[in-house]
Amino acid sequence: MKRFLLACILVTLLLSACNKAEPAPEITPVILPTETSQPSPTSTQTPEPTIASEEFTHYQFEMTLDYSRHTAKVVQTIDYINKSSFSLPSLLLVVPPRAYTNAYLQSELSGDMVSSFSEDGIRTTVQLTQPLQPGQHANLRLAYDLSIPQREGSFGWTQRQLNLSNWYPFIPPLSEDQTWISHEPLIDTANMVVGEYIVNEIADFQLTLRLAENLPNLLVASGASANAIADGMTYSLEKARGLSFSISNQFYQEQLDHNGLLIQAYVFQYQKDQAPAMLQIASQAMDLFTEIFGPYTHKQISLVSADFLHNMEMDGMVLLSSKIIDFYDNTAENNLTILVPHELAHQWFFSQVGNDQAMEPWLDEALATYSESLFYERYHPELAQWWWNNRVYVHPHTGDVDNSIYDSGTYENYRASVYLHGAIFLHDLHITMGDQAFMSALKSYTAQNYLKIATKADFLAAFQAANPNANIQAVFARYFKD
Ligand SMILES: [Zn+2]
Repeated sequence: MKRFLLACILVTLLLSACNKAEPAPEITPVILPTETSQPSPTSTQTPEPTIASEEFTHYQFEMTLDYSRHTAKVVQTIDYINKSSFSLPSLLLVVPPRAYTNAYLQSELSGDMVSSFSEDGIRTTVQLTQPLQPGQHANLRLAYDLSIPQREGSFGWTQRQLNLSNWYPFIPPLSEDQTWISHEPLIDTANMVVGEYIVNEIADFQLTLRLAENLPNLLVASGASANAIADGMTYSLEKARGLSFSISNQFYQEQLDHNGLLIQAYVFQYQKDQAPAMLQIASQAMDLFTEIFGPYTHKQISLVSADFLHNMEMDGMVLLSSKIIDFYDNTAENNLTILVPHELAHQWFFSQVGNDQAMEPWLDEALATYSESLFYERYHPELAQWWWNNRVYVHPHTGDVDNSIYDSGTYENYRASVYLHGAIFLHDLHITMGDQAFMSALKSYTAQNYLKIATKADFLAAFQAANPNANIQAVFARYFKD
């Protein structure tokens, strides 16, 4: 019985796409959700940028990593550009590693326009000497030591891997009511982190990595393009929401040049036989999503075996639970075939088209889940119903699709409403609109919101325009509370 229960829990966790089921971090009380968040945008329009849309905030890092000791010394500069239409008397820095005790030790925060700063939990408010006008730049410089926590997760280390995601201070987006979009993490009663709480603007990233020791077997997976320099590596990634790494001395790497796109698989050495299948599924998914959503805009994509029981998307990189890779059985009736497309769909819905992942998580999660169905329809049509039965109907699949991560209460309810009921909602919308209009709406929604943070209103506008005669409001009314 106990073994059966464990098996059930394992299957549930493995099917939980993205980092929705991360074990809760060791935390200080300060990050517990005593308040939900600052006000967040509920309405529709993002202020029009007053500057050329090609110009983005630039993050630059010099990092010296000690893999064996799980520490890093970092010097970071931020060339922030005020893309809002407001003048800003202060800037907000969100510092996610401060959610973990003693993980972040800052020795410097300075800048030409910095007058003072104050820290509260994961937030640092930086007062400026004069308001930053629309289109103006402000430069910040930070120096800090990271002590990466020992935990299974996207920020943490285990015996066979070190993961760096959401590891550095960043300036969050502004909503149209002049508040910073910054939320608190939510931990449910089962000590699971529910959903993602971090919302990022698009930015450009550059990092120079040096190693504190010579480890010849160390491989670094990233979504960024890598170049060797005399004493290390440089990584650059443009127009992305974040810069993440997964590092291991036990990786085996295999890659595929797929019509000019570099697809890389980083698996643990004992999983080497599964790498070709991962690359194959990924190449099919990237082909399909490029066709139906629009071009993929980075030069490479990395699929990485993660030493934990969940999956997660990042810019140019996805982490897949090593257990999913272990259980791959060379058939399409398998979690690997379900979840590789899910995580890759996030390159469009999360990365290219951003959303407030805490307040409107359906905008990326329902779309990524339904993308799995579209993948099966295209490549394994005989298994399309199998997908619905095994991915959706076998689990609880009800609740308001527009739940925030705070509404659901538990991870299970969150998945049932946002992911699974969300996929049923999109299928209903697909049928109601007709295939051609629905597919055309997916493409126009992606193009219209490229590099922006989309809202329900943006989604509605694109889908209604694709078929003005369809009663889309009635479909929303069946699944949404608002
Ligand atoms: Zn997802």
